Amino acid sequence: MPRILIAEDEARIAQFLEKGLRANGYTTLTVDDGHLAAALARDDDFDLLVLDLGLPNLDGLEVLAEIRRRGEQMPVVILTARDGVDTTVAGFETGADDYVVKPFRFEELLARIRVRLRTERGEEPTVLRAGRVTLDIRTRRASVEGRTVDLTAREYGLLETFMRNPDRVLSREQLLSLVWGYDFDPGSNVCEVYVRALRKKLGDDVIETVRGMGYRLPR
Ligand code: CA
Repeated sequence: MPRILIAEDEARIAQFLEKGLRANGYTTLTVDDGHLAAALARDDDFDLLVLDLGLPNLDGLEVLAEIRRRGEQMPVVILTARDGVDTTVAGFETGADDYVVKPFRFEELLARIRVRLRTERGEEPTVLRAGRVTLDIRTRRASVEGRTVDLTAREYGLLETFMRNPDRVLSREQLLSLVWGYDFDPGSNVCEVYVRALRKKLGDDVIETVRGMGYRLPR
């Protein structure tokens, strides 16, 4: 049974995580303090760390730096409220494997945890390819014909969803619930805005509009 250390100081979120992870067969231990998290995060004791960035006493990035300095190699999934390239880059430079932007759906986090645990065991491909786009899910880096493209967390989430469903028409509602989770407003045009942003970064023809139905990323 995989063992997961949860470092989260917001009781409501911690309980939500514990409950969901236990229901899915994981053993969990929750701590609400950065120092404690850094002290307990040992490869011998845990298979994965879910790490909130805003923790008392030692913040998440410092916890991560500390455990990597010590040589712990467990995958680390960051929980962040900050959807920005800077935080993402800082997290990856410090040695994070993945991150989920708050507010998130439990399934989104669970999917990330499963990928990380499978990737560690070499069971999951780490690079997705569709059309001219390559997406490395370990480094979260996209490239188009060898050109690296920087993505924000939401842009990445949207692109990964398309890449995992190549050739499939995804409706606006599907994308909103898959990428934005419980926090979306069904009348929102956020999907259009992000598709436009991805096209701008990756090329206009990378994502097709299927009139009246949604969007598709051709294989
Ligand atoms: Ca926090």
